[in-house]
Amino acid sequence: MKVSIVGAGLAGCEAALQAAGLGIEVDLYEMRPAKMTPAHTTGLPAELVCSNSLRSDLPHNAPGLLKEELRRCGSFLMKAADNCRIPAGGALAVDREEFSRTVQKMLCRQKLITVKKEEVTEIPQGKVIIAAGPLASGSLADSISELTGSGSLYFYDAIAPVVDFESINMDRAFFQNRYETDGDADYLNCPFTEEEYYNFVRELKLGNRVSTRDFEKEIHFQGCMPVEAIADSGDMSLAFGPMKPVGLIDPKTGIRSFAVVQLRMENKAGTAWNLVGFQTKLTYPEQKRIFRMIPGLENAEFVRLGSMHRNTFINSPALLDCRMRLRTDERIMFAGQITGVEGYIESIASGYLAGILVAGTDTLPSADTAIGAILRYPTAAVTDNYQPSNINYGLFPPLKKKPRGGRRARREAQADRALMSLEKWLESQVFLFSKYT
Ligand SMILES: Cc1cc2nc3c(=O)[nH]c(=O)nc-3n(C[C@H](O)[C@H](O)[C@H](O)COP(=O)(O)OP(=O)(O)OC[C@H]3O[C@@H](n4cnc5c(N)ncnc54)[C@H](O)[C@@H]3O)c2cc1C
Repeated sequence: MKVSIVGAGLAGCEAALQAAGLGIEVDLYEMRPAKMTPAHTTGLPAELVCSNSLRSDLPHNAPGLLKEELRRCGSFLMKAADNCRIPAGGALAVDREEFSRTVQKMLCRQKLITVKKEEVTEIPQGKVIIAAGPLASGSLADSISELTGSGSLYFYDAIAPVVDFESINMDRAFFQNRYETDGDADYLNCPFTEEEYYNFVRELKLGNRVSTRDFEKEIHFQGCMPVEAIADSGDMSLAFGPMKPVGLIDPKTGIRSFAVVQLRMENKAGTAWNLVGFQTKLTYPEQKRIFRMIPGLENAEFVRLGSMHRNTFINSPALLDCRMRLRTDERIMFAGQITGVEGYIESIASGYLAGILVAGTDTLPSADTAIGAILRYPTAAVTDNYQPSNINYGLFPPLKKKPRGGRRARREAQADRALMSLEKWLESQVFLFSKYT
């Protein structure tokens, strides 16, 4: 069997190495360096476009757990990352050039992989994995759009921060929908006094922001305003915009607050909540500092921070089956950030899954593993506003029994459960994995 993989990024390289390792012939297409993306700067495979950190490597948090699972599964890029590790405390940071060169050597050594340095403009015939990333070239994006139908391909994202429900101070926040004081409420509200509001707006205006790259300018043009840009336009703009308090009465005071930040459930389990309308370009440390000024979020734990950048991704839950194949054409699979998994390590995991699925894995990793969460988020998320997500415990099923000892004990229990399930799954795959070359 032969598969064409479009994109020698993180997902494409891992998928190619896994599939080839399991005996599948691979044509791996990469358009760089002849045609560059707005963020990549080299012609090397698996380039890390921004930070050189693959985030936390601590086993009880979600990114750390995903890495541990990838190691146990025999991920090639994880091995490359471990080999190119540089000191970064509890995080896994790598020498980015050495990392890419290590992956390049792995690709060269694998005889079943042929790297084709060309831009793919039409979806190739035969089995295909599209792993062209968030900056997929325009003509390929057009072909995907044609194939999947209009409205299925998004070209940028504006992600608002997501908070762990357990960290919200419910002495300040309250459940209520606008203009409804009874019945089940879908929104959590964080009410501001006038003084708290003006202090918050002042810090938003002063907060450090991520600098804009040229290709990002279109985002503002398309009217997707970061919260700090709304604050810049006038001190009361937010109070008349995403923070308007109309139709909301704080049950603790019986009055309408000066302004309100609303949070909406992010997952079915209700463990993660999204700050509505709070897309932002503040730096990560500034988001934590400033958003913790929101009454009720003083001790907020962020399961995801906000960001805005061009991001080509398909509406995966509507388009893909549980094996990452297009429902309307099973020969075409998608992998990596283009499916709506967000981040380096998540894209490697998605590539790993695509590689073993195309090679014939029949049993899927269970939903309580981090790899299972990466498979299920894009293929089974229930939402009418699908947005990219990185790995977080909000994507896992809740524990049946909560252990004593607070958040840390819960995370450890979730990580233990995940690793046990993963081991069982790996045992069930022994026959397939015995084929590794
Ligand atoms: C500006 C920016 C900054 C980011 N910063 C971070 C960060 O700090 N940390 C983090 O975890 N994540 C970050 N991300 C997300 C990051 O892109 C993904 O995490 C990861 O690189 C996605 O992996 P991928 O394999 O899906 O795509 P990529 O790694 O982007 O790989 C896709 C590959 O496909 C190639 N390609 C595209 N179109 C074609 C075509 N038509 N024909 C042939 N080849 C093609 C591209 O050249 C590229 O090599 C950032 C994303 C962007 C856009």
